[in-house]
Amino acid sequence: VEQRTKGPARTDDVVAGVTITHPSRIVYAEGDLTKLDLARYYERVANHILPHLKNRPLSLVRCPQGATHGCFFQKHLGDALPDSVNAVTVPTGDGESATYMMVNDLEALISLVQFGVMEFHTWGARGNAPTQPDRLIFDLDPAPDVPWARVREAAQLTRGFLEELGLRSFLKTTGGKGLHVEVPLVRGPGWNEAKAFARGVAEHLAAEIPQRFTTKLAKSRRGGKIFIDYLRNSLGATAVAAFSTRARPGAPVATPLFWEELDHGIESAHFNIDNLAARLRDTDDPWAEYDSSRQRLTTAMRDVLTDA
Ligand code: ATP
Ligand code: MN
Ligand code: MN
Repeated sequence: VEQRTKGPARTDDVVAGVTITHPSRIVYAEGDLTKLDLARYYERVANHILPHLKNRPLSLVRCPQGATHGCFFQKHLGDALPDSVNAVTVPTGDGESATYMMVNDLEALISLVQFGVMEFHTWGARGNAPTQPDRLIFDLDPAPDVPWARVREAAQLTRGFLEELGLRSFLKTTGGKGLHVEVPLVRGPGWNEAKAFARGVAEHLAAEIPQRFTTKLAKSRRGGKIFIDYLRNSLGATAVAAFSTRARPGAPVATPLFWEELDHGIESAHFNIDNLAARLRDTDDPWAEYDSSRQRLTTAMRDVLTDA
């Protein structure tokens, strides 16, 4: 495999106490971002991303040679992982259990970047109660022919309906094509309940506005529409974490947004490794109230969904 590097060959570098091998390896082909740049990005945003990773089983996208040389999801601990990465054994739904990784501190975060991780995805539950979700997520996936204005509108419609139900929701870019709308939950109910509720919301929207939304998995039925992927609300399902980079062109970063920012032309891949620092400096945290907004799914809400 051809290795692109930036500048003269460098010896190992150290970030947050972790030795970074191949620091000058280019990990984003179109730019000149190196593995060391990526490690420094995560060091800089550690205080922002760690609360979203802490105590959650992870699914990682690893790209050992950089984003253009092939990436794969890795869910389970390998032998080579450093001690700083925590392990948790959780049920996988088929009566089995498996050991997942968790990142709880800066050293573990940088260790995984050293390990070739370019995306951090988390469960919607914490390791100490893996069968009790603490968020709902509506993963809005536009068909390729859907213009951004409609994606934006779909997120606003989702928010509006959740508000009608009495639920406050939070928005983030994915760094890709769509948006994620999240509802922080008080833990208690299990995944079946959460999924049934999310499905009810998705099917309500698809029934009310069938020209915009679909809940049908078949790609052939999605043309011109936005697929509301409620199946993210399942045991073991993951979503990209806020402030995770994506192994996609332009080094985009999944970023929490204020709802109003949708009106200012911010698209899903707007924020990236280069411009995120300025945003963090200049803008308050749109999710400052995420944790204090944990909500319960009530019978009254379910009645609205089943009456529809
Ligand atoms: P986009 O906005 O482009 O849709 P996304 O992150 O929402 O970006 P999706 O393909 O909709 O991408 O996937 C939603 C989530 O499902 C991902 O964030 C990821 O956590 C999980 N996921 C998707 N594909 C896989 C896969 N092959 N293996 C494991 N998890 C996956
Ligand atoms: Mn998506
Ligand atoms: Mn999806």
